[in-house]
Amino acid sequence: MAAADGRYAAEVAVVGGGPAGLTAAVALAGAGVPTALVAAPATRADNRTTALLAGSVTALDALGVWPGCRTMAAPLRTMRIVDDTDRLWRAPEVRFEAAEIGLDAFGWNIENRHLVAALQARADEIGELVRIDDAAHAVTIDEDAVTVTLAGGGVLTARLVVAADGRRSLCRMAAGIDTESRSYPQTALTFNLGHARPHHDISTEFHTVHGPFTLVPLPGARSSLVCVVTPDEAERIERLDPAALGAELERRAHSILGKITVGPGHGAFRLGVETARRFAARRVALIGEAGHVLPPIGAQGLNLGLRDAATIGELAVAARRDGRDVGGAGVTDAYDRRRRADVASRATAVDLLNRSLLSDFLPTQGVRGLGLYLLDRIGPLRRAMMREGVTPRLAEPRLMRGEAL
Ligand SMILES: Cc1cc2nc3c(=O)[nH]c(=O)nc-3n(C[C@H](O)[C@H](O)[C@H](O)COP(=O)(O)OP(=O)(O)OC[C@H]3O[C@@H](n4cnc5c(N)ncnc54)[C@H](O)[C@@H]3O)c2cc1C
Repeated sequence: MAAADGRYAAEVAVVGGGPAGLTAAVALAGAGVPTALVAAPATRADNRTTALLAGSVTALDALGVWPGCRTMAAPLRTMRIVDDTDRLWRAPEVRFEAAEIGLDAFGWNIENRHLVAALQARADEIGELVRIDDAAHAVTIDEDAVTVTLAGGGVLTARLVVAADGRRSLCRMAAGIDTESRSYPQTALTFNLGHARPHHDISTEFHTVHGPFTLVPLPGARSSLVCVVTPDEAERIERLDPAALGAELERRAHSILGKITVGPGHGAFRLGVETARRFAARRVALIGEAGHVLPPIGAQGLNLGLRDAATIGELAVAARRDGRDVGGAGVTDAYDRRRRADVASRATAVDLLNRSLLSDFLPTQGVRGLGLYLLDRIGPLRRAMMREGVTPRLAEPRLMRGEAL
């Protein structure tokens, strides 16, 4: 597959070595599809964590990745939503218990660096996977193949490109796919915290007028925090010294975890929602943030990205087994169809929930409060929503059911 002159050929080129791209590469190559992963070396540390929902954990287990990182993850057995808006229409606190739908946990929270390390370790074990530690510089699409020119001068040809190159995807632009986007007046700050009191495997999402403040358990007396505030407020918080920052976060957390010690490093992300108008075209399939960027509410972003990876893996493996073109319209059209409803429904739900928090319009606040009230009171509704949140009915690829590709 690789040649000393910098020319490579593969059935599938995965561009982007974030968690979505690595998962697709492991799924494809692990099922015997000759695959090349073009992964530019990381330029900055990612201190975020991911709440992996149960289906994602099942898929990572089926791919042989989960045993390499499960000890670094904490179970999420209870999820609480607390209205912290001080508005006239305040919603009741709602608790979702995994046991109520027969699960041990809704999912597991893990630092992205541990998840990516486990994916990289698994990728290194798979013979069919060629790893090219370089950036894609240009992507040219012809009728039968795609050519990826690498920044270092090498050239890779493939029948299908899986675009996992993030929100400013070069591959998406090469395929001529537009996006729809909306930006919010919000910045998400991410921190990892130590705390004096145990979290009891409970994740707590405080809904404030500027956005959610979400504490998610990590192993031991640690939690990750996503604190969504206005951009000005984010800058103020970022300038605080460690002691003042700990006190500020403890106040915002209503001291539910006692004294807070902030771990090293933090992240800051301007928020918006952006979705591609198509999820595949012209031998290019978009996965992860190349296809959809969502605000961090309800832990949907990477869970969608892993379902993308599992779906394109399933379709390309089936095409190859049947002797069909893995990058042909049969595969890309099917991929676009299969991802559309899942992505659109999650993006709409997250967008509506976020905007209802920011809205000063009383009826909007009333509807949000009523929705949460009904979820609190009506068991079957609450259970249906929990099941749909963990495993979507419409879009469950085989890997999410623990089946091999
Ligand atoms: C604050 C916050 C909290 C979140 N929490 C959760 C959560 O709890 N649960 C959840 O499911 N999701 C969560 N998300 C979403 C999740 O973090 C993202 O969906 C996920 O990181 C996207 O992964 P990705 O692999 O698609 O993209 P990225 O991680 O952005 O990876 C893209 C990769 O492509 C590479 N690349 C770019 N251009 C090129 C090129 N030309 N050539 C080669 N490589 C290239 C980049 O270097 C990078 O490695 C959160 C997001 C935010 C902002």
